[in-house]
Amino acid sequence: MTTGNDTRCRLPKMDRLLDWPELAPLAHAYGRRQLRSAARTVLEDLRRQLPQHPATDFSAECIVARIQKLLLRQQESGLQRIINGSGVVLHTNLGRSPLPAAARRVLLDTAWGYSNLEFDLTRGERGERSAHVEELLCELTGAEAALVVNNNAAAVLLCLCALSAEREVIVSRGELVEIGGSFRIPDVMRQSGALLVEVGTTNRTHPQDYRQTVSDRTALLLKVHASNFAQVGFTAETSTAELVTIGREVAIPVMVDAGSGCLLDLEPFGIAGEATVQSYVRQGADLVTFSGDKLLGGPQAGLIVGRRNLVQRLKSHPLLRALRIDKLTLAALQETLRLYRDERKAVDQIPTLRMLSMPFGEVTRQARRMVRRLRATLPPAITLRLHDGTSAPGGGSLPLVQLPTRLIEVTVSSLSAHRLEELLRETTPPVIGRIKNDRFLLDVRTMTTDDIPLLAGSLRQALEISHG
Ligand SMILES: *Cc1c(COP(=O)(O)O)cnc(C)c1O
Repeated sequence: MTTGNDTRCRLPKMDRLLDWPELAPLAHAYGRRQLRSAARTVLEDLRRQLPQHPATDFSAECIVARIQKLLLRQQESGLQRIINGSGVVLHTNLGRSPLPAAARRVLLDTAWGYSNLEFDLTRGERGERSAHVEELLCELTGAEAALVVNNNAAAVLLCLCALSAEREVIVSRGELVEIGGSFRIPDVMRQSGALLVEVGTTNRTHPQDYRQTVSDRTALLLKVHASNFAQVGFTAETSTAELVTIGREVAIPVMVDAGSGCLLDLEPFGIAGEATVQSYVRQGADLVTFSGDKLLGGPQAGLIVGRRNLVQRLKSHPLLRALRIDKLTLAALQETLRLYRDERKAVDQIPTLRMLSMPFGEVTRQARRMVRRLRATLPPAITLRLHDGTSAPGGGSLPLVQLPTRLIEVTVSSLSAHRLEELLRETTPPVIGRIKNDRFLLDVRTMTTDDIPLLAGSLRQALEISHG
């Protein structure tokens, strides 16, 4: 017999294992079915490891500990809070915008109780769910009417379905964009039944191109924000104002898919070139659609503002029922929009705006504070060093903007940057950073003071896991 076979015999049989009294508390806490499945996984893992470690002694204590750890990890997996040290402010994979604290109370009240979601308290009769934010949206953007749906993809789809099915929509060739994942303007258009008519060339589209293409089959002139890419060099774009002039000449509505939905001029914060929703409305766009969770800094939602007669057509379209906004989202959106009534409040209290607008001096102070507080609690095996770097707005917005930032390089005794990155994805909460030049880096811009104790805990856990 080989050594491998010998050690294999030291592993208990599954049925015997499940009868161990040490496992009774786990069966009680997690249920027998989950315990059995975890025990099987652990036994299989150990059996696989045996040939490499023939001398390892798998004591009962060790086996129970492994099962317990696995059950705990399963418990903590699933959707959960994480620490974003990536420096990407609007990270679609990390949930885009963290909500302002001001949304917490209404969000909880709406979740745990009944609400006037679709009930008009003044008249005592059925109301509209969008109504809670419509007036606010009109006030903030200067539009006549507003509507909210599940996300901006839904907003664009609804507009196209309601206003242009079976008819033509004219779009510049340079604006037929793909916004990550599965949102591509030509595909959405096909889905809606609208017929896409491309005008211009990839880099240049002139007002004349639209004028020559308009016909009695045209339902809509559509302008799409380039979002995640930028054109430089020999380019020409027909502005919203020019498109509106053409639209008025031929009595065809102009729709703008504004993408990020910026409600605040970001130029004072050194972020140039992002037009606000208000500016599209002012230039005469008949409909503007935008996201709730990109530059606006609220929950996932699709916001539509524009002319009353067009919004009315959207409201009576049967698709609206399938795209409607959820009450929790609506609660968070309402509170986020309210903050915009005072721009200073918005910048100060909406995390996305705060992170984007944070000047380098403040990032530096925050970095020093974080490092000082972390060092005070971390064991000497974990070392921290500050570097200069840049953060990205992300979320398909502002592709050319790089924000100067401070990065915390984390080193844990003998671990490589890659191993550390891997371990920190397993901790509670997981920590997402980036690796550059073999260094594991955490960007201070996308972390908050609240993250410090959690981050310290996760770093300690990573060190523990690495010790086995
Ligand atoms: C992000 C984006 C969308 C999709 O918005 P979601 O809210 O993610 O559905 C559509 N159009 C443009 C131009 C965008 O930037």
